[in-house]
Amino acid sequence: MTNKKVALLYSGGPDSTTLLFDLIDQGREVVALTFDFGEAEGYKELIAAKSIIERVGVEHHFFDFSGPLKEFYGLKQPQFMRGAQWTTMQTPPVNESEDIQPFGSSIALLLAASWAVKNGIEDVFYAVHAEDARFTDNKLDYFSLLSDVTSKCEGEQFRIKFHTPYISIRKHEVFEKGASLEVPFNETWSCGKGLEAHCGTCPTCHERAGAFAVNGIQDPTLYINEFAQVLEPNSL
Ligand SMILES: [Zn+2]
Repeated sequence: MTNKKVALLYSGGPDSTTLLFDLIDQGREVVALTFDFGEAEGYKELIAAKSIIERVGVEHHFFDFSGPLKEFYGLKQPQFMRGAQWTTMQTPPVNESEDIQPFGSSIALLLAASWAVKNGIEDVFYAVHAEDARFTDNKLDYFSLLSDVTSKCEGEQFRIKFHTPYISIRKHEVFEKGASLEVPFNETWSCGKGLEAHCGTCPTCHERAGAFAVNGIQDPTLYINEFAQVLEPNSL
C-alpha cells in the first residue's frame, strides 16, 4: 500500500476536529469517516461533522449503521462505544447499562480498518486523549493489539496502524492546540444527550466546558443548563 492518504475517525467533536485541523496543517491528505451507531448524539454529530468538513473541503464519508444495529441488539438506542468505559468506572448509569454493547470500540475501529484496506490506506487516526486513556479500550496497548489483529487476519501487507497522537496529552491541551489551529469550536458537538443544544450537565458537556475554562478560552457553546460550577479536568 503506497497511498499517502490517512483515515480519521471523525465525530464532529472538538477533539477529532482538532486532529482534523492538525493533520491538514501537517500536510496530510485526510479522509474523514463518520459512523452513526444509533447513539443519541449521532444526528447532532453528523450536522457538526458536515458543517466543518464543508469548511475544510476534505474527502468525507458517512456510514449509517444505526438502523441495523438497533435491530441487531433489539434496542432503541445502543451505546456502542462505551462498554469498557463503564466497566472500568464501575458506575453503570441506572437504566442505561443494558444499552452498552460489548466490544463496540473494537468493532468501530476494525470497520474503519476494513474500509481503509479496501481504499489503499494504512494509517487510521483516532483522537483519544489522556483522560480517555483511563478506559480499557483507549489504551496504547489496546490499539497496538488491534493493529496486530489486522496483520494476523490478512497478512502483514494489510496491517493497519492506529494512530492516537493525543493519547498522552490532556483534553484542555487538545483544546489549546485546537485554538492555535483556529478550530471552529462553536460548530463542534460534544453532548451525549442528543438535544437541540448542549445539555450542560452530562459528563461530556462538563469536560468540554472545563477544557475551555482551563485555557481561558471563551466558551462559545450554547448550553441548555448553565453550570452551577465548571468542573476542573482533575475532578472528572
Ligand atoms: Zn450534555
